[in-house]
Amino acid sequence: MSQVRLEQVTKSFGGVSVIPPLDLVIADKEFVVLVGPSGCGKTTTLRMIAGLEQATSGEIRIGDRDVTSLRPGLRNCSMVFQNYALYPHMTVAENIGYGMKVRGTTKAEIDKAVAEAARILNLGAYLNRKPSALSGGQRQRVAIGRAIVRQPDVFLFDEPLSNLDAKLRIEMRTEIKLLHRRLQTTIVYVTHDQVEAMTMADRVVVMNQGRIEQAADPITLYELPKNLFVAAFIGAPSMNFIEGSLERNGTAMGFRTTGDVVIPIPENRVAKLAEATGQPVVLGIRPEHTMTVDSSFPTIPLKVADIEPLGPHTLAIGKAGTAAFTAQVSAGSRIAHDDVINVPIEPDKMHFFLKSTGEAIG
Ligand code: ATP
Repeated sequence: MSQVRLEQVTKSFGGVSVIPPLDLVIADKEFVVLVGPSGCGKTTTLRMIAGLEQATSGEIRIGDRDVTSLRPGLRNCSMVFQNYALYPHMTVAENIGYGMKVRGTTKAEIDKAVAEAARILNLGAYLNRKPSALSGGQRQRVAIGRAIVRQPDVFLFDEPLSNLDAKLRIEMRTEIKLLHRRLQTTIVYVTHDQVEAMTMADRVVVMNQGRIEQAADPITLYELPKNLFVAAFIGAPSMNFIEGSLERNGTAMGFRTTGDVVIPIPENRVAKLAEATGQPVVLGIRPEHTMTVDSSFPTIPLKVADIEPLGPHTLAIGKAGTAAFTAQVSAGSRIAHDDVINVPIEPDKMHFFLKSTGEAIG
C-alpha cells in the first residue's frame, strides 16, 4: 500500500509562505501529475514528499507511515530529476546500480536488477557506455533505471522530459506510461506542460500560488473546469473568454456582449444560469468548438488578424468585439487578414463563469 497523503502541509521560505495549508491524497498505484505555472509550488510539494524539503507544518504519510520527519533515504521514494543527475565517470550499468552498491547489495543481486531495468527500458546495448555517449532520451532512461532498481513505494518525477526535444518528449511520455502500467507503482509527476499532464495522468492536480485549483481526471478538467484559471490553463490553444451578461426575456435567456451580439442560451441550461442574470459573466468557448457549421448555431463576428494553417485545420486569430479570440476553421477555408467572419459557437460547449469570482456557473 503506497498511498501518499498530505494533510494541512505548509511551506515557507524565510518567513514567506509558498504553500498555504494543502491537502492531497494520492491513491495507491495512482499516476498523479502536479501542473501549474512557474513558481506555483509544484516542485516544492514534490520535494516535501521526497524529504528533500522539510514541511513547515502539517503531516505527510506514505502508506501507513508518518514520514514527515524522516530523512529522504528512509521514505522509500525514488526521484527522477530534469537534469538526469547521472555520474559522468560511471557507465550506464554502474549508474543504475550505484544506489544498491552503496547500500551493500551483493554484486550478483545488483547485476540481476540492472539487467532487469535495462530490459524494461531498452538499455541493454548501452550498459558499458558513459552518459556522455548517450542521447538525451537514453540518459533520461538511465535516470529512470536508477529509480526502478530501488523498487520504491513511490516514484517522484520532477519535469523529467523538459530537456528533450519535442519528438522525444512524446516518445518518453508513452514509455513512462507503459512503465507505470507494468510496475503498478504510485507516481507523482511534476510538469508545467498541460499537454504532458493531460496525456499521462490518471488524475491532474492544477496548482496556482501554492493552492490546488482543481484535481480531477483529464477529461473532467477539460469539460468541466471549476474556474477561469483551470479553464484557461487546460487546453491548447487556450479557451476563448468573452465578457458580457446574461439577460432574460420571458423564459428565454441570452448572453449579451459588446456590439449588441446576443447568443441564445439552450433551454436545458437556463435553470442553472438563472441566478447569475444581470451579473457580469464570462463566456468561455474553446477554439475547437467553433468549427462545426450548423445553421442552428449562434455566431459571433471575428475580425481576423492572423491565420495559422496547421494542416488538419486552420486557426483564425483576431478579436471578437474587444476580446482576443481564436477560432478553428476548416483547412480549406479561404480567409484573409482583416476579414470579418461569423464564427459558429456550439451551444452545448459554452462555459459560463462569474466575473467577480471566476467560479464556473454552468
Ligand atoms: P517551476 O515550474 O518554475 O519549477 P514550481 O511550481 O515548481 O515552479 P517551486 O519551485 O515549488 O515552483 O517554487 C515555489 C515558490 O517557492 C517560488 O516562488 C519559488 O521562488 C519559491 N522557492 C522555492 N525554493 C525556494 C528556496 N529554496 N528559497 C526561497 N524560495 C524558494
